[in-house]
Amino acid sequence: MTEPVRRYDVLVVGAGPAGLAAARAAASHGARVGLVDAQPRAGGQVWRHDVRRGMPAMARRAFAALAAPGVDWLPGTQAVLAQPGWLLADGPRGALQLHYRALVLATGARELLLPFPGWTLPGVTGAGGAQALAKQGWPLRGKRVLVAGSGPLLLAAAATLRAHGAQLLGIHEQAPLHALRDFALRLPRWPGKALQALALRTRLAGVAYRAGSVVVAAHGDDVLREVEIDGPRGRARLACDQLAVGYGLVPDTGLAELLGCRLEAAGRHRRVAADALLRTSVDGVFAAGEALGIGGRDCARIEGAMAGHVAAGAEAPARALSARRRHARAFAGLLHETFALDPRIHALARPGTLVCRCEDVPLGALADLPDARDAKLASRCGMGACQGRICGTALAELGVCRPEASSDGGRRPPLFPVRLAALAESFTHDPQEKRP
Ligand SMILES: Cc1cc2nc3c(=O)[nH]c(=O)nc-3n(C[C@H](O)[C@H](O)[C@H](O)COP(=O)(O)OP(=O)(O)OC[C@H]3O[C@@H](n4cnc5c(N)ncnc54)[C@H](O)[C@@H]3O)c2cc1C
Repeated sequence: MTEPVRRYDVLVVGAGPAGLAAARAAASHGARVGLVDAQPRAGGQVWRHDVRRGMPAMARRAFAALAAPGVDWLPGTQAVLAQPGWLLADGPRGALQLHYRALVLATGARELLLPFPGWTLPGVTGAGGAQALAKQGWPLRGKRVLVAGSGPLLLAAAATLRAHGAQLLGIHEQAPLHALRDFALRLPRWPGKALQALALRTRLAGVAYRAGSVVVAAHGDDVLREVEIDGPRGRARLACDQLAVGYGLVPDTGLAELLGCRLEAAGRHRRVAADALLRTSVDGVFAAGEALGIGGRDCARIEGAMAGHVAAGAEAPARALSARRRHARAFAGLLHETFALDPRIHALARPGTLVCRCEDVPLGALADLPDARDAKLASRCGMGACQGRICGTALAELGVCRPEASSDGGRRPPLFPVRLAALAESFTHDPQEKRP
């Protein structure tokens, strides 16, 4: 039987670029490291397993962390509840109490989806969502797909969709042409990013990229038939089978909120606050990668290594990475400026447009409700399977219903739906008795 209580010097939650780097760095100092991820494979969002294509070389190197001496890798294991000094995680081994001296939160980001008329039609997904489905083998061959929204994820998603056989009708970026020109002029300061962008454009040769172009509606009866675009040349309707539309990313702060870590504003959303050595406001808890703000893969890897070193008690190697971190974070600032959302997008949803897809709540039902708590009580908005991850984030972006004002940031345990048996099992194990 699997040992239900495990003890680590350093526990890392999230096995994306940040978490993998953190585990490796911590283990390099002889720490006993636990690494958990809700997904069945490591890689996070950017290196999500692709059933057709192999792993990029950078990912293969990062995956060496999984086999590093002292690293206990627990795939398919989701942290659902936080107590001082330990987390409850549920997965294929049942409920686990994971005790730690230091904890690294490398929980990444989620895609920002915004409501517009027709966005709940079958055939409409997020851009990152469509990419994830394609990597998992979703059949796309010959399907006419339009990619839209904002940010560099559109290019990455479009390249994956094309590689999986989709017929791309175009990429519609909401940012205006002048912002994209400025971005291109400043990009050479980050040569790695410039090369990445060039490689993606090469993979997307022949696919139209339209700036200042916003999806205003999706039309169809029982499935998507047409997408309506408002662009520099006016309005147009395009027939298509699939619309992949996303408006960038927002930090995943759920676990940090449960632990009581201080958050700070990141535009209309929030990120985990941390000092220069990535210490959060809670003793022994560190954060790295997109949970600290959207910064991209390279930034996540640097921060992961820094957090792993400091969590294992080695500050000097972390300080040595500080300059590289500042450079990577400056790129995040440029992304934020370039892909700021056009106010047209905030005004697309009408009173009858569903905002909460789990509980079928239209925008109009939320008028005059001051905050997310009242919205829950009056309409059930945010009380469905996603627990407000999609609708709560969208409402924050639209400036409708303030996020809950409670001291825990509105996040209550469990973080994700969990088996009752897992909760019961976990509290029957007395952590003191199991101490080796
Ligand atoms: C849908 C999507 C697609 C993306 N595609 C690309 C792309 O193609 N190219 C690109 O350059 N960038 C992409 N990005 C951006 C990308 O997320 C980052 O650049 C990079 O992956 C960030 O690394 P990270 O380690 O901070 O987080 P992530 O890679 O997001 O990893 C975080 C991990 O934490 C795990 N996790 C979170 N909470 C828990 C919990 N409670 N318990 C257990 N595990 C948990 C998640 O399962 C996830 O695997 C994408 C982002 C998203 C949201």
